[in-house]
Amino acid sequence: MSSNWNNNGRYHGGFPAAVKKRAEQELPKVCAHCGATNCPLRLDHIRNTARGGNNTIDNAQWLCDTCHDHKTRAEAAEGQAIRTAKRTLPKRPHPLDRMMPG
Ligand SMILES: [Zn+2]
Repeated sequence: MSSNWNNNGRYHGGFPAAVKKRAEQELPKVCAHCGATNCPLRLDHIRNTARGGNNTIDNAQWLCDTCHDHKTRAEAAEGQAIRTAKRTLPKRPHPLDRMMPG
């Protein structure tokens, strides 16, 4: 048996214990990306919580460590790209700036 479940009821990953329990019972124990079954699997958010994903069974999937790392890195890079794009967006002059008084 795994000791991961005896961590004061808390478990890294964000999913509530009830959701993890359901995932253990209901989701196929196979990496959702590469199909690996003979390796440790992590419960992953299909849609990252940072992007509005929920801690629900509908948003849960099993990933192997390799795919999870890859996804985490891709999401971090994407977040970085979004932040960079926001910084470099061309600024339009505010309409009121062109209004001359009188
Ligand atoms: Zn995988």
